[in-house]
Amino acid sequence: MSDRPVLVTGGAGFIGSAVVRHLVARGTPVVNVDSLTYAGHRASVASVEDDPRYTFEHVDVRDAEEVRRLFGQYRPAAVVHLAAESHVDRSIDGPGAFVGTNVIGTYTLLEAARAYWTTLEAADRQAFRFVHVSTDEVYGALGDSGRFTETTAYDPRSPYSASKASADHFVRAWHHTYGLPTLVTNCSNNYGPYQYPEKLIPVVITKALAGEPIPVYGTGDNVRDWLYVEDHVRALCAVLEGGRPGETYAVGGSCERSNLEVVRSICAVLDERRPAGAPHSQLITFVGDRPGHDWRYAIDASKITSELGWRPRESFESGLAKTVDWYLQNESWCAAVTKRGEA
Ligand code: NAD
Repeated sequence: MSDRPVLVTGGAGFIGSAVVRHLVARGTPVVNVDSLTYAGHRASVASVEDDPRYTFEHVDVRDAEEVRRLFGQYRPAAVVHLAAESHVDRSIDGPGAFVGTNVIGTYTLLEAARAYWTTLEAADRQAFRFVHVSTDEVYGALGDSGRFTETTAYDPRSPYSASKASADHFVRAWHHTYGLPTLVTNCSNNYGPYQYPEKLIPVVITKALAGEPIPVYGTGDNVRDWLYVEDHVRALCAVLEGGRPGETYAVGGSCERSNLEVVRSICAVLDERRPAGAPHSQLITFVGDRPGHDWRYAIDASKITSELGWRPRESFESGLAKTVDWYLQNESWCAAVTKRGEA
């Protein structure tokens, strides 16, 4: 890639911060654009804060004037767009913010990217990339068999997945209509360090450590396909560097687990690392199900594997052990972000 920076949106969030840390560590200049919602924390990128290749911009992606300024000022080689409202439960309680950031924010970025891209010299125009990071939830829910692929019809069921699906369509339209070199990735559930403790895995770890009831929706039988966050980051880099503009890449760990299996696995790791007298699984408490809770997601990632040579490095067991260890060593990060999120 050129010496121009990659503009990463949402780089103070869970996956975005992992993208930022990875790119800076390998020498790529990065401009991190984040409005620091409850889910965004500069502490998650503290390890690169003093690196001369790293710049933070406290900007909301819905702010068209500011977003235009960023393109003019930094003249990025590429955009990796992760800024989003990302929690399904919050989208059920308040869908407006999801339309605002996920749909209008994406449209705002696309328009600013397009205006900038048309001013580039031919070679830079050809090399420019806009990678839009999306989710497998746009495909709806599966029954007990089958897997999502890049050609599965969209069927979003929650306000979150509907807003992501809408954004995906805009991103593809900007490629087909204007030629902007966009790429879309649809990834399964991520887990790993720096995930805000409202999603399943960090909730279970933090509740178990506090000796509090571990809430499990419904019967705990819903199935998700889990991917360690650093494997997702490597997939995004593969798409950024080798993906074909206009294409979609489905990304997943081929690692299906029911929610209850996930919770039990975490409890077993904690029983070893932090024995509490009684098995942590005794804290499991079944609670009323999420409205419209999708039954099962699973991804067929064979396109990105065959075209770009990507495959996950972590198994669920190795990734989960790393994740639990990170939360055990970073209880102060958890306490600080939770306190800010509740303020
Ligand atoms: P996250 O909620 O942890 O982080 C989102 C980040 O975006 C935060 O830093 C937040 O401050 C920032 N942000 C929110 N609104 C903004 C705005 N208007 N302007 C600028 N910044 C804003 O989310 P995540 O889990 O890291 O997910 C990142 C992306 O990956 C999202 O687009 C999500 O849809 C997608 N994704 C997530 C998963 C997953 O399992 N977490 C799986 C597949 C795809």
